[in-house]
Amino acid sequence: MNNGPKGTLLQIAELGVPLLREKSSIVEKIKSKEVQSLINNMVATVQEVDGVGIAAPQVHQSLRVFIIASHPSPRYPKAPRMRPFAVINPVILEESSEKEKGWEGCLSIPGIRGLVPRYTRLKIKYLTRAGKERELDLQGFLARIFQHEYDHLEGKVFIDRLDSTKDVITEKEYRRLFQKKRK
Ligand code: ZN
Repeated sequence: MNNGPKGTLLQIAELGVPLLREKSSIVEKIKSKEVQSLINNMVATVQEVDGVGIAAPQVHQSLRVFIIASHPSPRYPKAPRMRPFAVINPVILEESSEKEKGWEGCLSIPGIRGLVPRYTRLKIKYLTRAGKERELDLQGFLARIFQHEYDHLEGKVFIDRLDSTKDVITEKEYRRLFQKKRK
């Protein structure tokens, strides 16, 4: 582990670590030092790797919390830029009838990308790191990140959601496909 500017960089659990396949526990003491510093460290870690989201099971913690860290990138130029925020004990209230496929990758499954069907819109509620309840309508890229991270809390990963194994490609071919360089 290294110390980043605002937190400790955490080790990423990769596919094969049993905890990634387990259902995570409700966060009880949101304002505890442990939970607050876990959130700080998850933010530091996702920023270090330029990711758009990270869930606690990916850093070896079986807790229902994840970070959404959406920002524009070559692949998602229209992704909303927002300060990374913690989503604690999330609940999905409504899902759109419509789904759409989009490319996803995962810090826990390096080297591959998959074309994953997700609901286009969601109504969700969750607790903030201050313990306040929030309700949000999400769509597009944010709805996709939310579903990807929520799945981690349920012990699921994006390859479980694929329509076909033919919807998986390597990172190298993904880059070639979009002719874009990743940082
Ligand atoms: Zn993931």
